[in-house]
Amino acid sequence: MAAVRAAASLAAPAARLGAHLETDKATARVARTVAHRGSRRARAAPTRASAAEAAPKAGAEASDEVRRVDFPEPSRPFSAVAPRSPLATPRDDGDARLEGFGRLTRSQTRLLLFVPQSTPEYEAVIGIETHVQINTSTKAFCKCSTTYGNEPNTQTCPVCMGFPGTLPVLNEGVVRKAVTLGVGLNCALRRVSKFDRKQYFYPDLPKGYQISQFDEPYGEHGFVDVVMPVEDGGGERRVGITRAHMEEDAGKLTHFPAKGDQKGYALADYNRAGVALVEIVTEPDLRTGREVAAYGAELRRLVRYLDVGDGNLSEGSMRCDVNVSVRPKGRERFGTKVEVKNMNSFNAMSRAVDFEVARQTEMILAGREHDIVQETRTWDEARQCTVSMRKKEGLADYRYFPEPDLPPLEFSDAFVDACRDGMPELPAQVRARYKALGLPAADVQVLVEDTELVRYFDACLEHGGAPAKPLANWLTGDVTAWLKSDAKRAVGSMPLRPGALAEFVTLIETGVMSGKAGKDILPDLLAGAVSAEGHDGGFVSVLELVEERGLTQISDPDAIAAIVDEVLAANPDQLAQFRAGKDKLKGFFVGAVLRESGGRANPALANEILMRKLKGE
Ligand SMILES: [Zn+2]
Repeated sequence: MAAVRAAASLAAPAARLGAHLETDKATARVARTVAHRGSRRARAAPTRASAAEAAPKAGAEASDEVRRVDFPEPSRPFSAVAPRSPLATPRDDGDARLEGFGRLTRSQTRLLLFVPQSTPEYEAVIGIETHVQINTSTKAFCKCSTTYGNEPNTQTCPVCMGFPGTLPVLNEGVVRKAVTLGVGLNCALRRVSKFDRKQYFYPDLPKGYQISQFDEPYGEHGFVDVVMPVEDGGGERRVGITRAHMEEDAGKLTHFPAKGDQKGYALADYNRAGVALVEIVTEPDLRTGREVAAYGAELRRLVRYLDVGDGNLSEGSMRCDVNVSVRPKGRERFGTKVEVKNMNSFNAMSRAVDFEVARQTEMILAGREHDIVQETRTWDEARQCTVSMRKKEGLADYRYFPEPDLPPLEFSDAFVDACRDGMPELPAQVRARYKALGLPAADVQVLVEDTELVRYFDACLEHGGAPAKPLANWLTGDVTAWLKSDAKRAVGSMPLRPGALAEFVTLIETGVMSGKAGKDILPDLLAGAVSAEGHDGGFVSVLELVEERGLTQISDPDAIAAIVDEVLAANPDQLAQFRAGKDKLKGFFVGAVLRESGGRANPALANEILMRKLKGE
C-alpha cells in the first residue's frame, strides 16, 4: 500500500494523464447523452475522434443509464448544463472544445466554469478538515525551531527525525494554545485524552508514524458562528465542529517530474516535521463554495485573534481539505465523498468546491453516480479544475494504537480556566460591538479582518469626540488605502497615532475644516506631521497644523455674508441677469464666493447665504 501511494504521488505526470483519459471518456458520454435526448445543437457539434474512440461502449451504457435513473429530472434541459460542464476542462493546449460552442479560449472557458452549477433538485453536502499550525516557537515534542522559510533541514534533531533511543517531550505551550483554540471553538474539552500513533510510510514522515489523537480528541461538539455571504442569504449560520485534536506536522516534499531521459525525483525538507498542529473537523453543514470560504475566513480570524497561529494559507500554516458530496434534495443518505485539497486562498477554495459540486452533479445527471469514487482530488489552479490524486485509504491502513512514549493528557480545571481567562474578545463579539455603534456591515468586515485595525480603531474611540461612523469611514477608506499603497505598513506602526486621527475626524465633523481640506492634509498626518511631543518641528495637534496651513473653514455666517456681498458688488451685470431669470449663473456665483474665501467657506452655509442674497432677501 505504502509503495503504491509513494509511486502514485511521485509520478505526477502519469496521474495527470490518467485524469485526462477520464475526462475524455466523460466528455464522450455527455455528448452521447445529449444526442440521445435529441438536442440538435449537440448532434451538430463535432465530437472529438479520440474521445469517441476512447469510450464507444461507455457512451451506449450512459444512454441506458439515463433511462433508468431514479433521480428527479433536472429543471432545465441537459443541453443547457453541458456548455458549462466542468467535464469540458481546458486542455493543455489552453483551449477547450465545448459541445455546441466550438472552440473557446482559456479565459472564455474560465468564465463559463465560474458560473456555479445549481440545480434546485440537488444539494452539495460539505464538511471541512483544517490543519492549523500552532505558532509556538518550538516544535510539539522537541526543541527545534518552527521558523518558516529557513534553509531546508536546518531545524531538525534526533527526536523529530525519529532516531532510535529518543523520546518525545510534549511542549506545554502547544497544549495551552490548543486548549485556547478549543475553547474559542466552543468545544467540550475532554479532561483526559491520549495521543496515538498513526502509521503510514511516506518520505515526508521520517519516523514512519505521526503522533496524533485518534478516538479521544481533546475537544468535541463545538461550533463557530459564520457570517454567510449575501448571495447565500446573508446572516450568521452556526457550523458544527465535530472534533479538534492535536498532532504533529510532516515534512515537506518538493516534486520534480521526469523530463526527457531524466527520472522524476522529490526533495525532502524536514524543518516542518514535528511542528504542532490542531486539526479541526466540521459537521457536514456547508452547501456552497462561498460558504466554505466564509467558514475558512472566520476560522482564520479566530486563530489570529487567539494568537494560536498565523493562519497563512500560502505558507501552508493553515490548510483546508474539503469533503464534497452531492445528493438529490430530500434524500437522507449522502453521496460518495470526495476530498479536495491544495487550495492556497479562500477564493481558490470557493472555486474548487463549486467546480467539484458541478462535476459530481453532472455525473449524476448523466446517470453515472456510481462512477463517483471516494478519492482525493487536488485543485489545479492553472487549469481551474480538480484532478484525481489518489484513492482514499481506509482507517484500518493507519493501524492506530496508543502512543507508548507519552502519558495520557490530563487538563486540570485551573489549567482550562487559565486558558479561558486569558482569551481576548473574539471576532463575533467585536462584530456585535461595532454593529451596535451603527457601523455599516462593509466597514465592520474590513475592521474585523485585522486585529491590529481593531486595536487601532478602539484606541481612536477611546480618545472620545470623534463619532464612530466617519472615523471607521476614514480608517477603512483613505488610511487603509495609504497603508496598502507604496508604504506597505502595518497599521500599528504607522506614524499617525490614534489620538491624532480622532482629532482629525472631530475637526471635520464639527466643521472646523472641510472634508476636502482633510484629504489635503491627510498625507502629512500619515507621514507623522503631528506627534504628542511635536518633535522634529512637527505639530502637537492637528488643529495647529490646520491653522498653520490656513485650512480652517469659515463657518461664521457674518464673515461669509461679507464675502458674498463683495462678490455681488463686483459683478452687477451677472446679478441683473440672474434676477432676470438666468438661473445658470448660480454656478458662477458659487465659484466666485469659494474663490474669494480661498476655498475655506463652509460650502453648505455659503450656498444658503448666497441664494438668499441673490434673490435680494
Ligand atoms: Zn527536533
